[in-house]
Amino acid sequence: MSAALTFEVLRALKPFTEQHVAENAICHAGLTTMEECSRCGQILRARAVHQKVTAQLAIADQVTYAVAMRRNDLHACTAIERRWDLFGENPETVSVGLAAAAAGRDHLAAVAAHLNPEVTS
Ligand SMILES: [Zn+2]
Repeated sequence: MSAALTFEVLRALKPFTEQHVAENAICHAGLTTMEECSRCGQILRARAVHQKVTAQLAIADQVTYAVAMRRNDLHACTAIERRWDLFGENPETVSVGLAAAAAGRDHLAAVAAHLNPEVTS
């Protein structure tokens, strides 16, 4: 699967991963764990897969971006920047975002903190 297609799948999955899951929800009353719940279990598994695949894609994009920068391959660089909603940012900032995503963190929050350290610290 291409990185672009993988990212499309992640975007499609994202709203499902953001569904509310609460320890005391009625849907899994009587079950031992939320993972056993037919609703919450699916959401929790989707979140885990989403996080894992996002991190793997970010790791791959870090390498591709570095190589593209060295080759002055603007097309490859902008494709990655657009994929991560970082188009127009400087390469250092894009790298901060990709590193955060590769570590399983919110890349846009990491970029915001990088660009405005006094606001978020
Ligand atoms: Zn449930």
